[in-house]
Amino acid sequence: MQDILPAQKAIHRKIEESARAVLAAYGYQEVGLPVLEQTNLFKRLVGENTDIVEKEMYTFDDRNGDSLTLRPEGTAGCARFGEENGLLFNQVQRLWYIGPMFRYERPQKGRYRQFDQIGAECFGMAGPDIDAELLLMNARLWRDLGLMDDITLELNSIGMPGSRAAYKDKLVSYLEQYRDDLDEDSQRRLTTNPMRILDSKSEKTRAILVDAPCISDFLDDESRQHFESLCQMLDDNGLAYKVNPNIVRGLDYYNRTVFEWITDTLGAQGTVCGGGRYDGLVEQMGGRGSPGVGFAMGLDRLALMLAEKMESSGTADVYVVSQGAEARRAAMQVAEEVRTGVRGLRVMVHCGDGKFKAQLKKADASGARLALVLGEEEVANASIGVKMLRESGDQITCSRDKLVSYCRDYFHEGE
Ligand code: ATP
Ligand code: MG
Repeated sequence: MQDILPAQKAIHRKIEESARAVLAAYGYQEVGLPVLEQTNLFKRLVGENTDIVEKEMYTFDDRNGDSLTLRPEGTAGCARFGEENGLLFNQVQRLWYIGPMFRYERPQKGRYRQFDQIGAECFGMAGPDIDAELLLMNARLWRDLGLMDDITLELNSIGMPGSRAAYKDKLVSYLEQYRDDLDEDSQRRLTTNPMRILDSKSEKTRAILVDAPCISDFLDDESRQHFESLCQMLDDNGLAYKVNPNIVRGLDYYNRTVFEWITDTLGAQGTVCGGGRYDGLVEQMGGRGSPGVGFAMGLDRLALMLAEKMESSGTADVYVVSQGAEARRAAMQVAEEVRTGVRGLRVMVHCGDGKFKAQLKKADASGARLALVLGEEEVANASIGVKMLRESGDQITCSRDKLVSYCRDYFHEGE
């Protein structure tokens, strides 16, 4: 599990703020979900034969002997939440959440045992329009973050359970011919979760898959129509995508639309967001049926992409330096006045002693644009020295009662 350092956290925050704004622009409502759920929820909904349930869950018995699991993903919990709070049957919901997920995996760049996701889940809408909306919303976020050039959309339809079963049989009989040449994982999946083989990263297996039967030849008419309409709406809005029949997603609950947003800037961990439709999920949970569709994006991977592009904005806009006991007390008050007077301005007070020169070095390192300087003289005549740190010019003197309006003008000019 990673420790997230301040610079990294600032990037997470930026992604969160951008996502928050985009989600609001589409009318999505944020919800708070617990990080622990009953183990059975994931076993039943995510599926016994998925990577997640087979080998990635953090599961333990609580004091009561109930088996609980740190959530490995958010969809199952969100569906449980919707059902228990009576938000699903005969209703339309656009929900989203942010928070940590936990999976016991081999840690590497872009793959951690605790990682943050932003997820959205929509209930009560069966048509392709909501699928299109989700994807357009994703694209808007990538654009806002300046990442659109590095992320591409791959899209597929896996049909309904019936058509998928027919496909599964054909796929298995095709792959059986090459059983011995498949990688070990894929050999095992031949009986447990054959469609997941399409996801295999093994070169040998990939070569065998080239001539495998294709799911698009097995789609039922309604699913085909659904997918065509979705593609049409993406075309209407100028969103580029690639249809990739090998995208199946690992979890049991998906049907029809499945998609991944992929980058080649992160090596093997190239999927930054994935999702799809899960019309059977609520019923499988024991609720009255409600179609659903959603996505989850990995903040840690997006942050790795952004880290290359984002400049640090430092920790302060204004840095207050002082010398002498009285000035030190005045500095604390001046900082409070400026924070009160200019909303959102980041004001940092130098705490402790030190020569002005050393303090100003700290001011510079903080990224601040202004240093406010207080010595005995300034205290005596109720003034402040103001030093521009990012432009040339001499230090000026400002009377204390004008300081707030000076700062306001200085930082808000041109807005
Ligand atoms: P992968 O194929 O990389 O294992 P996945 O299919 O298991 O991904 P999802 O369950 O679709 O991933 O999760 C959605 C997103 O969450 C992923 O696209 C990725 O950005 C992020 N994610 C998943 N697992 C991890 C992890 N262990 N560490 C960091 N981010 C992750
Ligand atoms: Mg995974």
